[in-house]
Amino acid sequence: MEQLERLPLPLLLWFRENARTLPWRSDPAPYHVWVSEIMLQQTRVAAVLGYYTRFLEVLPTVEDLARCSEDRLMKLWQGLGYYSRARNLQKAARQVMDEFGGKFPSHYEDIRSLAGVGDYTAGAIASIAFGQPIPAVDGNVLRVVSRFTGDGRDVTRTQVKEEIRTALEKVIPKDVPGDFNQAMMDLGATVCLPNGAPLCESCPVSEFCQGYLEGRARDLPVKPPKKERKMEERIVYIILRNGRVALRRRPERGLLAGLWEYPNELSPWPCPVKGRTEFVGVGKHIFTHKEWRMTAYTVAAEGEALPPGWVWADREEWEKTYALPSAFACFVHVMERKWEETKQGRG
Ligand code: SF4
Repeated sequence: MEQLERLPLPLLLWFRENARTLPWRSDPAPYHVWVSEIMLQQTRVAAVLGYYTRFLEVLPTVEDLARCSEDRLMKLWQGLGYYSRARNLQKAARQVMDEFGGKFPSHYEDIRSLAGVGDYTAGAIASIAFGQPIPAVDGNVLRVVSRFTGDGRDVTRTQVKEEIRTALEKVIPKDVPGDFNQAMMDLGATVCLPNGAPLCESCPVSEFCQGYLEGRARDLPVKPPKKERKMEERIVYIILRNGRVALRRRPERGLLAGLWEYPNELSPWPCPVKGRTEFVGVGKHIFTHKEWRMTAYTVAAEGEALPPGWVWADREEWEKTYALPSAFACFVHVMERKWEETKQGRG
């Protein structure tokens, strides 16, 4: 790990010239850094940009976030996935209001105590927004470090992660810790790419990179084999009546908690609402540990009655009020066709 001492200087020189221009970097207020880091968890920068800008337009302060209604918040997050992040974000905003008098805490331990904030995010906020020399270690950083030091151990092991974190603590520059952490993020995202595809020839630290010098960069980091995803065959009913569609809310806990959906269950599942049923297509959605294979039918409901907790949503409510996860994006075309038919009086 002594190897790491050689990392900061060339990395920071490179960062000065090559830092990505990102909206949260132009004004690294704690609220901005925090929202961006939460959005970026498990999500690519390109996907986050539009969400981040819209989120801050609607909720420019931590107080606005604390007061926002749950449905509005979910609507702002719709399509970004991992919705518990949004709930925790709001929980944490309320903590900031109640426990810290509305001022974002500056001490690492206090930041770490906020809902949804782990070691990585706390390190990112403490270093970028408050200039504290604390490393932010995520999968990108583990990859860069394991390659740079030629470390062939399994980086998913807690002990290995801790050792890498401790080693980074020793080399993180005290004067520009935020730049160092962001430089590591940028290097991991743009040069030291995952899945065996690092761009070593254009890397600013290749001269000192053990993995590269030993020709092992592509084989690092070492990780245990991935578990297979569980497949689920699901039946989805898009139930329609008088220009409205039936939606129901998912349970408060678990996958896609609290979001709205077209009623769906594991196959086989007879529709609990009577009406003419027509096959409209199949779709799939991949979650981290699960894959949904969905077969969808439209149902022209005979009556208004719906099972308890289900609602009828018109086009505007479907678009603006109810947050539907992107798992159902594969059926958007069905709804768009139906709304069009309704507009033309055929629905
Ligand atoms: Fe990563 Fe290659 Fe750079 Fe080493 S030389 S840090 S493996 S991109």
